[in-house]
Order: sequence, then C-alpha cells, then structure tokens
Amino acid sequence: MPASASDFVKALEIGRPPNVVKLFPNSKALIVSGKVIDRAMNAKGHALALAANGRNHFVIRGVLAAAQKANAAILIEIAKSEGGQKAYCPTNYWNMARQVDAACNELGITVPVAIHADHYGIKGDADVMQARVEIPSMFDAGITSIAIDASHLPDEENLLANLELAKYIPAWAGLETEVGEIKGFQGLSTVPEALFLIQGLNAHEVFPDWIALNNGTTHGLEASDAGIQVELTASIHEAVKPYGVNGAQHGTSGNSYERLREIAQKTRTTKANVATALQFISWGLEVNEYGNAKLDANGNFIKVKDEGMTEELWAEMVAFADSKGWKKGDYKSLNLPFENKFLAQPKAIRDRMAARVEAFAYNLITNVFNSADTAPLGIAAILAAGSYDLGPKGMLIEDPAHWTREQLGKRAEGLSKDKGPEGNFED
Ligand SMILES: [Zn+2]
Repeated sequence: MPASASDFVKALEIGRPPNVVKLFPNSKALIVSGKVIDRAMNAKGHALALAANGRNHFVIRGVLAAAQKANAAILIEIAKSEGGQKAYCPTNYWNMARQVDAACNELGITVPVAIHADHYGIKGDADVMQARVEIPSMFDAGITSIAIDASHLPDEENLLANLELAKYIPAWAGLETEVGEIKGFQGLSTVPEALFLIQGLNAHEVFPDWIALNNGTTHGLEASDAGIQVELTASIHEAVKPYGVNGAQHGTSGNSYERLREIAQKTRTTKANVATALQFISWGLEVNEYGNAKLDANGNFIKVKDEGMTEELWAEMVAFADSKGWKKGDYKSLNLPFENKFLAQPKAIRDRMAARVEAFAYNLITNVFNSADTAPLGIAAILAAGSYDLGPKGMLIEDPAHWTREQLGKRAEGLSKDKGPEGNFED
C-alpha cells in the first residue's frame, strides 16, 4: 500500500533536508537523507535498497518509475569517477539532484529518494584539501548522502581522512564509509580492519549508516561465479552491528540473483549499488537475466533491434569508440559525449530507453532485493522523527581517550598494509 496522501504531504513538509528545500522550494519530490532509505530497509528487514548509478538521464527516469511502481524507497547515485570534476558521465555531483527533482515532479513520483555521492575517493592529502571545498559545494547542489572512500589508504589514514571530512558532512545526511578497497579477490576485508575504522569513528562520535567492504566483488560486470563472499560479509556485519552500522554492497551488476538474495537474507546489507547493467540496458544492448552484456562471436556488444537507442545512433557510438581505440570497458566513456544525442532522439525512442531500465529495475527491487513497499516505511520514519533528521543509529561506545591520534598507529598494528592495485571504482 502506498503511503496515504496526507502522510506524503506531511513528509514533504518536514522530511526534505534544508539544502533540498532551499534549492527546490516549490517541489513535490520527496528527496530525503540517505538515512531515511536505510531505515526503511531496516524496518522491512532483509531488504536492499536499489542504489542506481544514473549514468544517463534515461537510467534516472527508468529507475524512478520502477521505484514508484514497486512503492520502494531508493537512492540515485553517481561516483566521483563518473560524475566528479573529471567526469565521463553527464550526470554529476552537481546536477544529479536537479535531474531527480525534475523527473519526480514530471513523472509524479511520490516515493522517498536519496541523492547519494558514491565513492567520494580520497587518495591522499591533496584530495582531503580539495574535499573541504568540494563536499560543501555538493551539498549546496542537493546531495543528501555520501560515501567517503579512503579505502585505498592504509587503515590509519583511512580513519583520519574520514574523521577530517566528517566535519563537512551535515549530521542529517546519509554516511557510508569503506574499508578494504573493492578489488575482487585480492585482500578481502577482515573483521579487525572494519572494527578499527568503525570504532575509531565511534570514539569521535561519527556514526556511519553503512560500511562497504572488499567482499569479493568486482566493479563493472561480475563475470565469475565466485563473486561476493556471503559468510565473510555476514561476520563483519555482525562485528559492527553494536555500532549501528549496516552494509553497502558495491558492484552488484551481473551477480547471480541467488547470490544477491542470499546477501539480503544472511547479511545486514541495506544498500546495493547497480551501475553498469543499467547503462547497458538503457542503451538497448543484449544482456543476460542478471544484466551482463552478451557478446557476439567477434567479442562485440549486441544491440537489440528496436530496443534502447536507434540503430543509427548505436552505429555512431561504435564508430566513435573504434576511432578512439576504445575497448568494451571504455564504452562507459560514451555517456558524456552522447547524452545530447540520446536526448535529441524521438520521444518514442527516449521512452523505450527508460522503459527498458524500468522493467529491469522493477524486477530487481521486487524479486531480488526484497524492497517493494518500503516507501511508506521511509515516510513513517520521517513522521516518527518529526524531522528530516533521523539522528544516528549508533551511539558512543568507545572511549575517546583510547583513540587519540597518537594511539592510532599502535592500534593499526597488524592490519594489512596492502590495499591492492590502483583502479577505477565507480559503483
Ligand atoms: Zn563501488
């Protein structure tokens, strides 16, 4: 059952954070903190919120329509590599809220939606310096949730970067932190690593909503069957449970639905990121049931006739990629140069790009992620709090005197220093 009309109106009145109200004073879009989405999943239990990377406008429209149909709370997100200062996507940290707000009003979307800055990557002091200006600029632009990803740094520096940047993130906002970089089977995250980060943050009264682990997934498409380590994930989630931290799962594109259902059932994950699959589906490429792109005998993508973009535009994209010498993994860089070409197509074509995303996302939400009918639970959380600010799930447990800067080196002893190879981390 959808939330009652009066509950929706009340949630609209009190549930939108101040930055969103300021940007969109007359809007009827229920853009909320990421905390609202997390709490809605907690209330239902064993539910994963779809966190969809809106690499193009049609992904955003399709996912919003699917969420409305499934009556589900969701997040629309973009990562720094996709939509930061060196973006390869048209959707970025500064226009994502605007796109979502407009689409919600246009399409009559009444479910709660969070605007999540994913993989806000920090690889050293220069990034921290830039973040002090950039993070406030992103919240000015309507971001309501953020993932600080300093997981490429040694654990001690990861913690220090999270502590420093917490000062620039509003207390009401959704907060995700990451431990152990997402890098497939190299150096899976451990309980001590996760506890070091979460306890160190707790001692300084920083209470993340989510932790992302390296639990065996890869970004892009998950081709191998090995994939996400469910037992490891469950054990780490259990260890951080006293601190009120849930799990965020990255790189779910192409994972088997059995595996994703297991994650919902056996771990404390409430957020599941999907990027690559949605992009390919919007384009009209042939995918298997899990969203993995299929390839022809020559190793090329297969365009499904009369789905996604026009055949002419696809031919133009392939020619463009060939002219640059781009391989399959580089095709994501087509998002930025081709957005206006997508938008310039006939309405029927634009609609079918979004509709294909809607069908795939609806199935994910309802049949895999178990997050149908979580929209009213998000609205109920806002009404119960009487505010856009739901407060933290965690409370101070650790003794700050044991987590001073001077003690961190000693505390981090024994944790792995190998944080894996460099790479692009985007969903
Ligand atoms: Zn990721």
